[in-house]
Amino acid sequence: MAKQGSLSINSENIFPIIKKWLYSDHDIFIRELVSNGCDAVTKLKKLAVMGEFEEADDEKYKVEVRINPTDKTLTFIDNGIGMTEEEVDEYINQIAFSGAAAFMEQYKDKASDEQIIGHFGLGFYSAFMVADKVTIDTLSYKEGAAPVHWECDGGTEFDMEEGDKAERGTVITLYLNDDSYEFCNEFRCREILDKYCSFMPVEIYFVNEEEEEKKAEEAAKKSAEEKVIDVEAKDADSKEDGTEEDGDSEVTLEEEEEEDTPKPINQIHPLWTKHPNDCTDEEYKEFYRDVFHDYKEPLFWIHLNMDYPFNLKGILYFPKINTKYDTIEGKIKLYNNQVFIADNIKEVIPEYLLLLKGCIDCPDLPLNVSRSALQNDGFVKKISNYITKKVAEKLSGMCKTDRENYEKYWDDISPFIKFGCIRDEKFNDKMKDYIIFKNMEGKYVTLPDYLEAGKEKYENNVFYITDEVAQSQYINMFKEQEMDAIYLTHQIDTTFITHLEQRNPEVKFLRIDSELTDNFKEAIDENEEKELTEKLSEKFKKATGVENLIVKVEKLKNADTPSMITVSEQTRRMSEMMEMYGMSNSS
Ligand code: ADP
Ligand code: MG
Repeated sequence: MAKQGSLSINSENIFPIIKKWLYSDHDIFIRELVSNGCDAVTKLKKLAVMGEFEEADDEKYKVEVRINPTDKTLTFIDNGIGMTEEEVDEYINQIAFSGAAAFMEQYKDKASDEQIIGHFGLGFYSAFMVADKVTIDTLSYKEGAAPVHWECDGGTEFDMEEGDKAERGTVITLYLNDDSYEFCNEFRCREILDKYCSFMPVEIYFVNEEEEEKKAEEAAKKSAEEKVIDVEAKDADSKEDGTEEDGDSEVTLEEEEEEDTPKPINQIHPLWTKHPNDCTDEEYKEFYRDVFHDYKEPLFWIHLNMDYPFNLKGILYFPKINTKYDTIEGKIKLYNNQVFIADNIKEVIPEYLLLLKGCIDCPDLPLNVSRSALQNDGFVKKISNYITKKVAEKLSGMCKTDRENYEKYWDDISPFIKFGCIRDEKFNDKMKDYIIFKNMEGKYVTLPDYLEAGKEKYENNVFYITDEVAQSQYINMFKEQEMDAIYLTHQIDTTFITHLEQRNPEVKFLRIDSELTDNFKEAIDENEEKELTEKLSEKFKKATGVENLIVKVEKLKNADTPSMITVSEQTRRMSEMMEMYGMSNSS
């Protein structure tokens, strides 16, 4: 079956193209080769279900990733479906050919560094981004199949001949190029596996061959020593009764074995793949800790589980956040069939949802998420709308049926909700009736609640407090007049007030110290007013040096307050805005 062939198209070499354009992140070849191994196992399992392959009773499917820092190699081993000679020809040789042809056709004039994996079935060939030479050793599950050895040194030629692989499955060996030795570093390799492969659906094991060899040597040495001790012990036993000691040494052996049993580096059934009814709160919290390494408990979560009209599963957590808006930092990881695609793709997840933490798995999402392609993708828009809808439903549902918790979490979730309302009209429509405000009594009210309660007194003004201490004098006056104000203390509230005023033109927000309505004033005698105005005008004109200063005298009801300073809402907002844009008032 020895065969040689050429991978070139029109005598051009595809490898420089692959190296140059395929990926900006070179580490992705690990994802591609491990996921090929998983695919190979999944295919075999399907055949077993269909009765076309008979599984051994103790069948243990797995993918192994081995590094050898001495040899500078990386090896991917699976015991999946394997490939026959014809299949290697078709899936490896031909695909590279046709894939590259299509690639050349589309990209010949464009120097694009967009990720194009998947489109051209070049997943396997991503190995050449980091390797000078790649070999495949494979044996198909099919009865009577011959093992195949394939190799290619990154030029335009490949070699294919009968191999010597005795067990079913595939071994792919990469001989790393000088620029890519980092990938046979254990720390680096584990880091990449953790990023891309944490939830792949087949058990993955990591082996450092160098370490393994060392261990084997040590074990051999140890067992040689033990034999000596054993002989000595036996000598001793023959003199005394040593049954107990024998028992002890057996236990030690068992323990050692358990410690050496390798653990898969991934979870093959991540929590989002389970039905929400089968998941406990503790499982949700544990998953959150595992994935986000955040030891503050999440407030609550949404488990997304949808089959129609598209397939999407995932869990979104509302993290406990600090009151300072700046410190909110979420993370949403996207997956395609448990294969990691990317973090925080704001084309798929609306920006304000990126304040949450979670995993979203959608098999219809392309593995090669190129951001520009996603922007105009109708499907992506649908996903994004669906997620928005689900989040809004969860929140509004909670407000309606579990008001106690909604209020308890409000301070934590309100920045997120307000941000969402400002950014997303659809989200705003769904959430606007569920925005609540803490009032002076410490109760939570909606805007209509507040206005209704003070119908006569407020005249559609909404009084708000931003600083309880600094504004305490005004708070007391409000209490005396049996008037209420709401707390708006978060940084985002400045913008949110404007948002609310735009959507409720009849309502005006006034900071508690900005203007005094008639409720606070007492009628004043005409003569007294005239006299006071003249007197004060003179004083204030002198003090300020402004000749045309207009002074207006009003009498407060509150006898304890001799005078008040107010800054009009508009003036204050203007200066706040200038401050926000870095324009100082004093200049
Ligand atoms: P894709 O996975 O998108 O099909 P790849 O370039 O990653 O493209 O792989 C091409 C084909 O080669 C696969 O579809 C599969 O048929 C075959 N293949 C690759 N790796 C393996 C493997 N480990 N075991 C069996 N078949 C494999
Ligand atoms: Mg693949």
